[in-house]
Amino acid sequence: MRRSLLLLLVVIGLGWLFASASFASASGTGDSEAMVDEGSWYSRVEWPHDGHPVESSTFVVYGDRSSPDARREVAEVAEGLWAGLLDEFSVDASMLRMPDSQDKVHIYAYRDYYPQDWGMRAYYAGVVMWSPDHPQRPTDVDYYGPVLEHELVHVLESLLKGRDGGDPEMTDVWFSEGLAEAVVGGTAGGAVRSLHQMNGLTAEYGEVSPVSFKRDSQVTVPGAGFNFNYPMYQLATEYLLDADGASSTLNDARDLFLAMGNGASFQEAFNATIDIDLDEYEEAFYPLMDGYLPEYRTPLFSPIGYALFALAVFGTLVVVLAANARHVRRAAHNVVSHDAPRGGSGRLFRSEAIVSAGLALAFFLGIMFVVGTSSGLNNEMRGSDRATGYLILILYLGATTAVLILAQRLNSRQSRTAHLVFPGVIVATVITFGLLALVI
Ligand SMILES: [Zn+2]
Repeated sequence: MRRSLLLLLVVIGLGWLFASASFASASGTGDSEAMVDEGSWYSRVEWPHDGHPVESSTFVVYGDRSSPDARREVAEVAEGLWAGLLDEFSVDASMLRMPDSQDKVHIYAYRDYYPQDWGMRAYYAGVVMWSPDHPQRPTDVDYYGPVLEHELVHVLESLLKGRDGGDPEMTDVWFSEGLAEAVVGGTAGGAVRSLHQMNGLTAEYGEVSPVSFKRDSQVTVPGAGFNFNYPMYQLATEYLLDADGASSTLNDARDLFLAMGNGASFQEAFNATIDIDLDEYEEAFYPLMDGYLPEYRTPLFSPIGYALFALAVFGTLVVVLAANARHVRRAAHNVVSHDAPRGGSGRLFRSEAIVSAGLALAFFLGIMFVVGTSSGLNNEMRGSDRATGYLILILYLGATTAVLILAQRLNSRQSRTAHLVFPGVIVATVITFGLLALVI
């Protein structure tokens, strides 16, 4: 009984670790069909398609050698993301202005190409993306879905404005990219959630206001785009959209783009729709963040917090069950064989109830831990801190498992030291929270 519960704990922990790192493998399709040498995406890349697009109500998914299944998957995922975006921005079809040559949004899903410096790209009413059967890109929807959603925010922007980007009427890059990142929750080097984290970035890349970045060409330091600019653009936009910040909304962002579609410059549209002056925001960005961000991040109400909480409760349950092993065994036997508790044994009856409830709760927490937190945890820990974060979690899992094994030993020897196990697990959990707060 005790051994199998311990085993369950270990299996659940390992299962989660592997689940968050799993990749589906790619498979090839036939080739050498006549290719069609044109497409709306030619404004970005001149890649021919095979003439067999997959169509859904909003999208037409073209491709080179991507499989029909992969294209259907793309159409399905894109439809779901698009419906969510229209809902979040309160957009109805009458607000969207398609190019004259298109009545649906085009997606080109490539399998043969492997551009090293980008993976997906948006244009007016279209996206170029890697196909889910691409041999060298992440094929799991948990990985490519957020990137596709980011690009679809750009597509929504272009349809609200009714045109492609292009000077002098472009949206400032910090707002365009920041909005896409804020909606998705970040696809680059990790959302900035504490002053500690922000100060680390400015120490490395300089205290330059993200709001000063109007064009992508202003980013010149290698690696800065991914590690500094996109996370800081996201922070700058999240502040605008936060009730504790400038209290604007996604509806305001929608109105901003509609105003630009009616001829306003970005600055005019921004000042008319967002509750802060653009020039003032650029100037006062860092002082505003000082009052907005916490010194350190508390990971309590985050996927990491939930995972640790589930682990702590689960571990405590195992300890309680192990500490009452003798009663538990008899009670479990009674539960299975439906024997009535023997007369006068109220304690035994209580144990039965505890065992049933305990097992049900442990099962529930185990499932929640594996299913509910794996992708969330992955998103929480990005970039260079991810390895450290996982190391801390693995150490925590290992340490608590070791403590539980020790508890079993102590308990079987009827040692009083067994009572120290529960507070030990609590202390280990608190220390882990602290370490993660420093890292993420
Ligand atoms: Zn983007």
